[in-house]
Amino acid sequence: MPRELLLQVTPEIAANESLLKDYLSKQIKVSPQEIQHITILKRSIDARQKAIKINLKVIIYLKGEAFQETKIELPVYKDVSSAQEVIVVGAGPAGLFAALQLIELGLKPIVIERGKDVRGRRRDLKAINREHIVNEDSNYCFGEGGAGTYSDGKLYTRSKKRGDVTRILELLVAFGASEDILVEAHPHIGTNKLPKIIEDIRNKIIEFGGQVLFDTRVTDILVKNNEVEGIVTQNGDKILANKLILATGHSARDIFELLDKKKILIEAKPFALGVRAEHSQELIDSIQYSCDYRGEHLPPAPYSIVKQVNGRGMYSFCMCPGGVIAPCATSPGEVVTNGWSPSKRDQATANSGIVIELKLEDFKPFAKFGALAGVEFQKSIEQKAWHLAGRTQKVPAQRMIDFTQNKVSADIPKTSYVPGTTSVEMGQVFPGFLSQILREGFKEFGKSMRGYLTNEAILHAPESRTSSPVRIPRDAYTLEHLQIKGLYPCGEGAGYAGGIISAAIDGEKCALMIAESLK
Ligand SMILES: Cc1cc2nc3c(=O)[nH]c(=O)nc-3n(C[C@H](O)[C@H](O)[C@H](O)COP(=O)(O)OP(=O)(O)OC[C@H]3O[C@@H](n4cnc5c(N)ncnc54)[C@H](O)[C@@H]3O)c2cc1C
Repeated sequence: MPRELLLQVTPEIAANESLLKDYLSKQIKVSPQEIQHITILKRSIDARQKAIKINLKVIIYLKGEAFQETKIELPVYKDVSSAQEVIVVGAGPAGLFAALQLIELGLKPIVIERGKDVRGRRRDLKAINREHIVNEDSNYCFGEGGAGTYSDGKLYTRSKKRGDVTRILELLVAFGASEDILVEAHPHIGTNKLPKIIEDIRNKIIEFGGQVLFDTRVTDILVKNNEVEGIVTQNGDKILANKLILATGHSARDIFELLDKKKILIEAKPFALGVRAEHSQELIDSIQYSCDYRGEHLPPAPYSIVKQVNGRGMYSFCMCPGGVIAPCATSPGEVVTNGWSPSKRDQATANSGIVIELKLEDFKPFAKFGALAGVEFQKSIEQKAWHLAGRTQKVPAQRMIDFTQNKVSADIPKTSYVPGTTSVEMGQVFPGFLSQILREGFKEFGKSMRGYLTNEAILHAPESRTSSPVRIPRDAYTLEHLQIKGLYPCGEGAGYAGGIISAAIDGEKCALMIAESLK
């Protein structure tokens, strides 16, 4: 019978099939020739000791034992061109996975996306990076694939439902992602590989009778007697259907404002906010792997750090090893940072959001905006950063130790943030209590990760789109909006996801509940 084994090996053995075979043959006392196949089920790095180990979970098939290569296939989709229509607003992970699930369930999705297709989007990303021009419909957050398309493509989630997570990972593999994502403890895809996967998902939706409309912004939701009737687009066109999945992401402020204006229930929600820190990847490797040189068998090291400072959680967020800091504004007149990495994570720099959890009471100065208080708080910081850095997409920046000492940096070396930096005292970007926590927090981080607190590290501000500043309340079981029948608030923008995988899971769940409601 095939044997399942948990083992710890050196990075070199883990990276080389023949060395691994030799190692395992000794472990199970057979000759290497007797081993027919080794399947790796899980792989993770144990960097707690100086000698770094790779944890593997494997199945060993000896000659004569039944072994079959398994190919991950797409589900059986039905042609839905003449089926009942469901409007899906937003082609991010939530919207796209909702659309696929609807097709699987025999319903026709009409996906409406304000931005361009993945290829068209590239031109607008170039414009924001090189010319400081922000297209309000096509940027790092808006466009086909949503905020996750030009990202690091990290695929881990806090979701405890392994079945749901595995299903999304397998779908991504069926759409062309590497099978490694099923094995790695911390899988990621990378900015260069995501667009093709997204494009293939869209083509599948269209092949089976769904519709995908780009350059189409929803400007109104038609509601009669507290029931959805359809939507209106920026051209005044109406699309009618009485089931609507609203998956517009954390940056769709016009949608939050529309709901608020129409008195469709939304509520303010705390989120996290801070800066994006950049170190050299070499430094992070040396801290995390306790070595001068990472070697060829270990990946660029990530880090994850959490501290309690003045009663608030301060933590690393969306860390991108070997990555680049991106300008993620969605409107002119604001500056926003986030990060991405290519699949090989081979850039010389490592960046991470370092953010502080906010509380509803922090939005008090904006209380007059009611449910939009968090949105206005967020806007005020992004706009202040824009003013401070020179009213372009240049970002306020400061060396890390200088920041902890309230000292404007004499110079800022070139960072991965393409539009450029302006040296400012970063404390000016944030309310005083937040700057104070960040200052204390970086000192604490430096105690846990020796070498992290250095003036070679550059802070960029703000990192402000960590999750939605609004929740759109829905029934916990039916997932339907608490007040409007047929409206399914979905994904990160509605407050039910935080990342690619959890947004995709939520998209599927909304589709399932719509099918359920139609039975
Ligand atoms: C640069 C960057 C890097 C990231 N890296 C990672 C990562 O490595 N791993 C991870 O898990 N998460 C990452 N994230 C977060 C992740 O992208 C989001 O959590 C996820 O995309 C949320 O999915 P969603 O479908 O709910 O919303 P979104 O992806 O935000 O999609 C919403 C879509 O709705 C569209 N839309 C908005 N308003 C309208 C309207 N009025 N009409 C029509 N369409 C509209 C938008 O254009 C957008 O395409 C990153 C985000 C950014 C910006």
